[in-house]
Amino acid sequence: MGNLISGKEVSKTIRSRIREEAQKLREDHGIQPGLAVILVGNDPASQIYVRNKQKACEEVGFHAFEYKLSENSTQEQLLDLIGVLNKDNKVHGILVQLPLPDHIDEQTVIDTISAEKDVDAFHPMNVGKIMIGNYDFLPCTPAGVMELIDSTGVEIAGKNCVVVGRSNIVGKPMAMLLLHRNATVTICHSKTRNLAEICAGADILVSAVGRAHFIKADMVKEGAMVIDVGMNHDEEGKLCGDVEFAEVEPKTSYITPVPGGVGPMTITMLMQNTLRAAQMKIGK
Ligand code: NDP
Repeated sequence: MGNLISGKEVSKTIRSRIREEAQKLREDHGIQPGLAVILVGNDPASQIYVRNKQKACEEVGFHAFEYKLSENSTQEQLLDLIGVLNKDNKVHGILVQLPLPDHIDEQTVIDTISAEKDVDAFHPMNVGKIMIGNYDFLPCTPAGVMELIDSTGVEIAGKNCVVVGRSNIVGKPMAMLLLHRNATVTICHSKTRNLAEICAGADILVSAVGRAHFIKADMVKEGAMVIDVGMNHDEEGKLCGDVEFAEVEPKTSYITPVPGGVGPMTITMLMQNTLRAAQMKIGK
């Protein structure tokens, strides 16, 4: 029987520490961490994410600055806004909610955010630092996964870890963080042969594919830890992960649920990065 790793519980503990540290920063240095969130267009999912990020800011005592641009705003308008926020002392973190409308080039936008305010850790400078292992910010979802693994007390060093998915925001940095902790890491993707067999060799299996019912029981080793990053909708429209939970859970030692697993951690790590960006102002 797998022990459930509760992202809600782990998040709560980390958020209360962030709140305390933010209060101390305010009292000792007069700095209130500030996060600017830019939303372009009316994508309903993005609107929910942005609202949740603002709520999290309130919860930990940060200042949230919200910018809503219309769907047909130009790339130049967006870059100009980022330029202003890059110079604004009250803004420590800048987040542009992705995806952006097709006429705006995502990479150009990411490149324009000052690396010290890039709390998503998508800027090439921060991506490079993560590769080297000497970083200011970690990308939020993989960082959240590391916190969840660590909350179990299970040692990562020497373990066989399999990451399914190689996106720049989840799979690749996830593999790198596990590697930094001395795991033996295999990255799988859509061209991987013998995927089920490779997954079944994992002590820690992280799935970041984006397909419901993808990880089945025969892909999981007895006693493995399974981390489900996927956020999908099943046939009934209900939120679910990549893992066929009912059949996989009994084989695992630890498993994350969806919802209530990795999801809450992503925003918590965004708060942590924003706090860090503000603390960097005092040379911490
Ligand atoms: P992407 O679509 O960018 O990447 C998906 C990856 O899965 C790709 O590397 C792709 O391989 C791989 N893949 C697709 N099909 C297969 C297959 N049949 N076999 C093996 N690998 C396959 O997604 P993201 O990384 O952005 O997100 C992944 C999931 O995580 C999504 O459900 C997303 O919603 C969720 N997510 C959840 C977050 C949270 O806070 N909980 C945060 C971010 C994402 P290839 O590269 O070859 O195409």
